[in-house]
Amino acid sequence: MYDHGDKICINAILKSRPTCVRCHSSSVHVKDSFTREINHSKHGNQLVVVRYRSHKYVCKTCGKYFNLKLQGLLGKHRSSEAFKLDVFERHSGGVTQSYLSQTHKISHATVERWYKVLIKDRIDGMKNNPLPRVIGIDEHFFTKKKGYATTIADLTKHRVHDVVLGRSEASLEAYLTKLPGKDRVQVVVMDLSSTYRSIVKKHFPKAKIVADRFHVVRLIGFQFLKAWKQFDPVGRGNRGLLSLMRRHEDKLSPDQKVKLEKYFKQFPALKILWKFKHELHNLMRLKHLNKR
Ligand SMILES: [Zn+2]
Repeated sequence: MYDHGDKICINAILKSRPTCVRCHSSSVHVKDSFTREINHSKHGNQLVVVRYRSHKYVCKTCGKYFNLKLQGLLGKHRSSEAFKLDVFERHSGGVTQSYLSQTHKISHATVERWYKVLIKDRIDGMKNNPLPRVIGIDEHFFTKKKGYATTIADLTKHRVHDVVLGRSEASLEAYLTKLPGKDRVQVVVMDLSSTYRSIVKKHFPKAKIVADRFHVVRLIGFQFLKAWKQFDPVGRGNRGLLSLMRRHEDKLSPDQKVKLEKYFKQFPALKILWKFKHELHNLMRLKHLNKR
């Protein structure tokens, strides 16, 4: 290992010889050798690179020529997948292309290329998830070139469900037309203009469209009380219990907590709903604070 100030270089030695990529024969010979240097990771403010001798092989059984392949490294790429992911995460977190091109010693174009590839991977990976029951639709600035993007958020799990480029009526409409599972959605939260609202209304006929997050908090409370009535109409009518149930989790005294727990023993399903209500409530508060 060598330390070059802004760069740490690890010299790796490959001990085993690969088998043939075509016939899996272990009788392979080194045909050519060359030194490769791979961007591997960042250690503090130092770039960690791995240097190794790579080889071109020839199979003695079938005559196939092939290059060595390493795990976590694609084809002729000069950076590991972990390194690209690191750049992607930093760029997502707001670090600029020009800053990353300095710290990671790569070009602006490379930052942009990796970012696009990984964004696409993530979105493709999410495509198979069914739509959640509570979603948020938001627009936000994406890149200078591409302009705005519309984000579909899963508000039950606090994560992004999908990202659509563009914020025109046409792009949103085209996207929603193809979106599967729209019937599942019960609540759509959006801060967008009324033109969008009509499009969303058309595509989510069963959902309540909620204009802002405060309404959601009220709606959650209302739905919870309605559900409670179905489980236990007598308990729902009890003023003491109602006041406990409405109180924020953190503001319950130990005595009150015991009382509530005792009540939940009779209605375990209600406790799950109650928990869920608090989680949603906290999430909405958080989102609102972030936005402001
Ligand atoms: Zn072979």
